[in-house]
Amino acid sequence: MKTIVLDEIPFALDIDDLQGRLHLAYNSDSAREFRELADEAQHLARPKALFRECYIEYRGVDGVTLGTVTFRSPALRAHLDQVERVFPYVATCGREIDNLVVPAGDFLRQYWLDAIKAALLECSRSYLRTHLEVTYALGKTSSMHPGSGDAIVWPIEQQSQLFSLLGDVEGQIGVTLTGSFLMIPIKSISGILFPTETSFQSCQLCHREDCPSRKAQFDEHLWQSVLGAAGPDG
Ligand code: SF4
Repeated sequence: MKTIVLDEIPFALDIDDLQGRLHLAYNSDSAREFRELADEAQHLARPKALFRECYIEYRGVDGVTLGTVTFRSPALRAHLDQVERVFPYVATCGREIDNLVVPAGDFLRQYWLDAIKAALLECSRSYLRTHLEVTYALGKTSSMHPGSGDAIVWPIEQQSQLFSLLGDVEGQIGVTLTGSFLMIPIKSISGILFPTETSFQSCQLCHREDCPSRKAQFDEHLWQSVLGAAGPDG
């Protein structure tokens, strides 16, 4: 199957919601300036995503093979035990938003712009997920991401394999990998989406305490069931 690009994602920034999350009082000067910035972002931004439909070719002890690419992750292997078809993907806020220039040293506006980019990424991720669930009649889905959760859950180095499976990710949606396997634009996400009856968040397999982005409690039982044999340090 070919990689499919979604580069005409319809979106509308929820500016009221963003303003509330940034604690900007209504009718304040800051709120007015923020809304101008968000309006510009709405016109400039082009959030995007790409994905590929894949079937699991081989299940090893601690990983799975999709096409010619093997992913080493006991957690991924466990989650895909009953799954035949999966969807590797990358979603991003897009590079076009970088044309919105905020003066160096204007840290407040840079902070606002960062929040706007995060909202754009959420738009592309949500659109992609709905697109996959509807187009392929998947029902309930979850996804896993290289580098999320404890280091041994799915090592971030496996971003290379994920990108190789998706072809020219930079040429298609402008996302590149750095030498340390982070994505540029930073507000991008990569992973494998799969149908499942059981909700899953990578945070359930993450020991990190006091993480402000935590979406689910650490689940010791789940950790032991999929990673116990690997030990705390892999
Ligand atoms: S708890 Fe924080 S660091 Fe750990 S997986 Fe969740 S968001 Fe990532």
